[in-house]
Amino acid sequence: MKSTHALAAGAALALGSTLLTIGIAPAGAASATAAAHRATPPPKQATMVGTGGGISTVDADASRIGLQVLRQGGNAVDAAVAAAAALGVTEPFSSGIGGGGFFVYYDHRTGKVRTIDGRETAPHAMSHDAFIDPSTGQPYPFTPQRVTSGVSVGTPGSLATWQRALHRWGTRSMARSLRPAAALARRGFVVDRTFNQQVSDNAERFQAFTSTRRLYLRGGHAPTVGSRLRNPDLAATYDLIARKGVRAFYRGALAQQIARTVQRPPKTAGTDLPVMPGSMTRRDLARYRVVDRRPTHVTYRGRDVYGMGPASSGGSTVGEALNILSNYHLSAMSAPAALHHYLEASALAYADRNAYVGDPDKVHVPLADLLSPTYAKERACALSPTTAMAKPVAAGDVSSYDGVCSGAPATGAAREDTENRETTNLTVSDRWGNVVEYTLTIEQTGGSGIVVPHRGFLLNNELTDFSAVYDPHDPNRIEPDKRPRSSISPTIVLRHGKPWLAVGSPGGATIITTVLQILFDRIDRGMTLPQAIAAPRASNQNSATTTAEQAFIDRYGAALAAYGQKFAPPGAPGTSAAEIGAATGIEFGPGRRITVAAEPTRRGGGSARVVRAG
Ligand code: GLU
Repeated sequence: MKSTHALAAGAALALGSTLLTIGIAPAGAASATAAAHRATPPPKQATMVGTGGGISTVDADASRIGLQVLRQGGNAVDAAVAAAAALGVTEPFSSGIGGGGFFVYYDHRTGKVRTIDGRETAPHAMSHDAFIDPSTGQPYPFTPQRVTSGVSVGTPGSLATWQRALHRWGTRSMARSLRPAAALARRGFVVDRTFNQQVSDNAERFQAFTSTRRLYLRGGHAPTVGSRLRNPDLAATYDLIARKGVRAFYRGALAQQIARTVQRPPKTAGTDLPVMPGSMTRRDLARYRVVDRRPTHVTYRGRDVYGMGPASSGGSTVGEALNILSNYHLSAMSAPAALHHYLEASALAYADRNAYVGDPDKVHVPLADLLSPTYAKERACALSPTTAMAKPVAAGDVSSYDGVCSGAPATGAAREDTENRETTNLTVSDRWGNVVEYTLTIEQTGGSGIVVPHRGFLLNNELTDFSAVYDPHDPNRIEPDKRPRSSISPTIVLRHGKPWLAVGSPGGATIITTVLQILFDRIDRGMTLPQAIAAPRASNQNSATTTAEQAFIDRYGAALAAYGQKFAPPGAPGTSAAEIGAATGIEFGPGRRITVAAEPTRRGGGSARVVRAG
């Protein structure tokens, strides 16, 4: 993340340097100020309590822009779209119009939760063996071939999501919603440590594309911390969409350019990075549609938990795990005992996720079974209160269950986890009581690594979320026009029919357990929402060893070893992630008060804002 905004107290000098930079920057190019003109990113506050609505994102500029919309009378959807567009400027390696996401909305007038599936989609010409090297018959290595490629670029869904959300529930136009983000892109923002690190980590592949190098590696270096980064190309792209509408992206000149970039990635002369071209066409873009989907729903300890249905596995997996945990009186247990149950429930739900969840428009997903309390009761039979199961555990049988225990749990098969840990999430509420929980992504940090030339945004590599090897029984097998399974889990919880809590997180496959753990910590372990967001995390995805932050291992590792639980810190080979899930959330009540919470430290901390503090 990056950030700044020039008008923060003490930033007058920074504004001066910005003007100077604008004066000397070549037209159409991004630019960063020299280190001598270092500015300070605007301050961020992780928790705020108040009334009248609020917003939480990972970024101070995005939260400021969303808050401004709320203060000017916009509703939660208007603020969410404006903030998402801003995140496309300041969090370009996690989100943007080159990516997709899942939008969950509580409407105060109807009292209903609704969702939009804005997932990226495989091109019509994508083949089953798109990720298989014909010379070996094996999948291409994940890094760099699958990650940095045109093949992995899915048809983007973000703009169509914003359009649909504004049309259904918003009060503002797309043009008005994009304006503050366009101004931010034009004026620039102050680069922070996380942004600088993200560019440095990706320097080799960013260097491999003329367009990406031009935007993020001027002079061959990552923008320095405290310098100002402008993206006039993205400002112009937002202006174009504001003038001509979302059609300009899906059908106009932009569509042509996106398809050409995917088919012929703009490689830098002499680069030896292998970059596979993709097959996306203008027709794929013209045919892209978001899907209105019913939310998933389970009840947990008297609350109604609504989540995102397939093509995300978030709602079904969080919901199934909660249903399993419903069978236990967790608040009466010691912390290690309750955590043992949380880890085991996660493993069981993950086994079912891998076996049954994919794009519901292409495969049958037995959602009602996965969310059935009777099914969960039967799954809970495998859970010993004292001893960790041998993992991976097998999926349950959704075709026949009665909640009665019989037989020992079977062993399952391990799956490759190729979901990265970078994405971003925002939570918004307004004065009327509408709530948005929205997770948006371009998948890998930096997506495919390919900026659309002169347009200022990166293309996603979301199709790496498909299983690489085609198996006709795998619900997440590659198919043309299909959405890869996601783990994104935007969640809104109602109590007595009114919003009680909204939460979501980045983190690839750890998103599911992060949201589950926050709900469990809040509801069963008595933490406040800010405490639950800050708490050290552990993520079991049905493997013998649980991925856990070092602080979790230090605090609970020894006690949980007595249950047979094993832990290792995050950081798959080739990644530097040492943390799990920079979440955001809002808790409602008592009365009209809201507690808006962002991450206090992960990814440099997030920014919580309220319309009226106190
Ligand atoms: N591709 C992931 C998913 O849709 C999200 C990526 C991330 O969180 O970093 O589940």
